[in-house]
Formats: sequence, C-alpha cells, structure tokens
Amino acid sequence: MLYQSTRNKNLAVPAAGAIAQGLSRDGGLFVPVSLPALRPGDIETLAKKPYIERAVSIMKLFLEDFTEEELRAFARAAYGPESFNHADVAPVAPLDGNTAFLELWHGPTCAFKDMALQMLPHLLSASLTKTAEQKDVCILVATSGDTGSAALEGFRDVKRTKIMVFYPEDGVSDIQKLQMTTQEGGNVGVCAVAGNFDDAQSGVKAIFSDEGLRETLNKAGWFLSSANSINWGRLLPQIVYYISAYCDLVNRGTVKNGDKINFCVPTGNFGNILAGWYAKRMGLPIDKLICASNCNNVLTDFIATGTYDKNRDFTTTISPSMDILISSNLERLLFELSGRDDGLIAGYMKALAETGRYTVSKTIFDGVAAEFRSGWSTDSETKKTIRQVFGKHRYLLDTHTAVAVNVLDKYREASGDTRFTVVVSTASPYKFCDSVLDALGEDSRLDGMALIERLEKVTGTTAPAPLKALGGKTVRFRDCVEKDAMTGVVTRFLS
Ligand SMILES: *Cc1c(COP(=O)(O)O)cnc(C)c1O
Repeated sequence: MLYQSTRNKNLAVPAAGAIAQGLSRDGGLFVPVSLPALRPGDIETLAKKPYIERAVSIMKLFLEDFTEEELRAFARAAYGPESFNHADVAPVAPLDGNTAFLELWHGPTCAFKDMALQMLPHLLSASLTKTAEQKDVCILVATSGDTGSAALEGFRDVKRTKIMVFYPEDGVSDIQKLQMTTQEGGNVGVCAVAGNFDDAQSGVKAIFSDEGLRETLNKAGWFLSSANSINWGRLLPQIVYYISAYCDLVNRGTVKNGDKINFCVPTGNFGNILAGWYAKRMGLPIDKLICASNCNNVLTDFIATGTYDKNRDFTTTISPSMDILISSNLERLLFELSGRDDGLIAGYMKALAETGRYTVSKTIFDGVAAEFRSGWSTDSETKKTIRQVFGKHRYLLDTHTAVAVNVLDKYREASGDTRFTVVVSTASPYKFCDSVLDALGEDSRLDGMALIERLEKVTGTTAPAPLKALGGKTVRFRDCVEKDAMTGVVTRFLS
C-alpha cells in the first residue's frame, strides 16, 4: 500500500518511506491511498486476542512492507510488561451505565503519548533499513512536557537512533523535569534552555533550517528528524486502541457487536481523535466523535462553523498538552472529507500560513458536521469536574481527561444523546499533581515527590510505579544553555 501527500497526490511512497521521511517534501502529510476495511467477524476474532496481537493484526493491514514477525517483535517491545504496567495495556474502566474510560496512561511515562512513541522508534529504525538509508537519525525535540519524556523513553537504546530533548527551564512541572533529567539510555541527551517553550521551540526550528549544519551532519552520517505527531508511524498505533476498546466492551457484554458508540477525546494537535475517525472509516461502529478543548478552543469553533481561525490569544491552562492553536493533523481529515482534493487542501494550508485562517467547502463542512461534535471547558469548570467525579465515583481524573468529561456532560445535556460513550483518558492524574490537588481543595505548595505523596494520602489512590520510582533516580542531565548555544549542544552530542 502506498502513502500519498495531502498536498500533492502524485507524491506517493511505500509505508517505510512515509515513516522515514515523516513529512512529505511539499509540506503535506502522508495518508494511505486506501483504507483497509474491517470485515464482518473481524471484531469477534480480534476480541479473543490480547492487545499485542490486536496491534499486530491491525497494523499489518497498513504496513505491507513489514512482515508479521517484525510487527510482533515491535509490539512486544513496545507494549510488553517491562513498559506497560497493566496486562490489558489500554484498559477500559467503567464509570457508570453508559460511560467508560479508555485509560491510555499505563506506559512508562504515564501519558497517552507512550501508546505511539513506544512503537514509532521501532517502525522508524526498520524503515531506515528498508529504504536503504545510509545515515542514522537524530531526533530533535522541543517539549513543553509530555512529548519529551515519552520520546526519550521510546527511543532509548533503539538502534540507528539518537535523541536530544530541549525543555524550557521555567516551563515544565517538577515531575516532568525529573522524568527527563533522570532518563536512562546510551543514546539520549537532555538539555534545559533558558526561557520559555517558545525559546526552546524556535531554537529547534532554527537548527532544522540551518543548511550548513545539515551538511556537516550529513557528512558525519546523521540526518535530523522530529518525533511530532505528523508522522504516520505515530498515528497508526493510535487506531489500534479504538478498535481494542470496542472489542473489550463487546467481550464484557456492555455493547452488542455492531452497536454504535461515541468517543469523547481531549484534543490538541488532533492526532488522537483523528485515529478514532480512521477506525470509524475502517468500519468500527462509532456514531459521534466528540472533540473536547480547553479555552484554546480553535477546534470547537471550526467544528461548529467550518472556519478555522488561529488569530486569537494563546492561553496557558492547567491542561498544557492541549494548549495548541495549530492542530496539524486536521489536514488529514480535510483531505479525506474533500474527496482527496489535494489542490484545495494545499490552498487552505497556504491561507493558514499567510492569514491564519481558512473556511472549508460545504462538502467538507457537511462531512465534519455529520461525524463530529465539539465543546470546551474553562479551567475552573475542569477543576469542578475533577472534584465532582472524585466525590461521586472515587475515580481520579487528570486535568486533560477532565476537560473531556466536562464537555461530554454539556453535550449530553444539550443533545439528549444517551448513547454509550467512551472518554479517552490521556494522562495519569499523578502527572499533574499540583492542579489536581488544587481542584480537590488541597494545598499544592509542595515540590515533586512530596506532591505525589500528598495526592496519594488525600485520595487513597496509588501513584503509578514509574512516577514513584523517580525519587530514587540519579539526575544525569543538569546543563542549561542560552537559546543561541543549542546548535553547539547538538554538534557535541553527535560527535
Ligand atoms: C498530547 C496530549 C493530548 C492531545 O492529544 P492530540 O493528539 O495532540 O490531540 C491530550 N492529553 C494529553 C495528556 C496529552 O499528552
């Protein structure tokens, strides 16, 4: 199966090429030229298998240039018991009669990015070999939190790769900082940048566009790549858990095979919810996909009106992984809903770059309106939801998942839709201890490990083992540099 660019359908490459390149040369995103369909009976068959085998079966449909044995080896390395501390990998936890959580945070860094970033490095490393790429890859990441630790943990000791992560000195939580600075592995590097996330990100962008540096690195046998969510190798592993969740619900008799359910997804870059849409297109019985945002609510407005407009103030919230004004993966959805009109999509993306806005055609808007619903939640509503759900169900939500629960409540209230809904739960509450303690009305003026202990004490819940273990780890990375010294950090790292 070939993958084509959303901005030029004639640029088509095999799966390994799409994964090795990440982004198409024309700036477009790679999508499969056709979507495999789930056949009648597939759900029953998949439902009998454990998560790792579900992943192999589903990924195989998209990756014809990989063997089943390869995919099985990758899935075992990615989702085995050394990485995931839950036998179901992505378990479904019921809340009440028509709501359940799909918990995507049982991986090594306790956020849903692990689902994709445990798999991507294996796909990428193998893709380099399949495409006869001579150079090895160095992944550069600027992170405001979750992506950095998940990418480090995923690429740790994966052959033909190195990874360097830059984080803003004053822009990540104590726990996120500890996760990164204590990272183990022989091919990893971590460095703080004086300033905020924008400083770290613009520094990384400057490195990517430095032609001279690229040439020097090429000669030394390296090319630079990023681990962000536009790579197909990051999206594909996410399709698996939507199908897996449905299988689990069928196994338990919660839904009858064939009955449609809704998913409600806390959304930033539109990667997670797009994977749900792909699962739906493959034939998974999904009715509505509910897109939940915080007050950076560009997507709420887009889904309601058909106009995407990023010309608005950026707000820092207690759900930082959703503080995004450009949701890159939306481009893939628009491409599909337009009937694969690459010229039209290229035009929208040009308008977005030049004016910060575009309005989609009626065909696309009707497609969006048929399948998506949207809503958003303020920080104080999000905190109220954490407090209420814990009070009523003794189930502790993180700040991102709480946005989704809040939006689902409002959607149900307004629409009267009582269909069974799975809320996609994207992080352990222990990753955002201070905001969660705050929401519960508890004192949050403590640092790192003390916050974890306090949250355990006041809720009677247990923190995930990887976070508790941080207290006993040695800090390996202490460097902090000015933005203009980042290039030097990368050259030293690769020499
Ligand atoms: C990255 C992230 C999100 C947003 O996911 P997208 O795929 O960018 O929409 C939501 N919650 C958490 C905890 C995350 O880390």
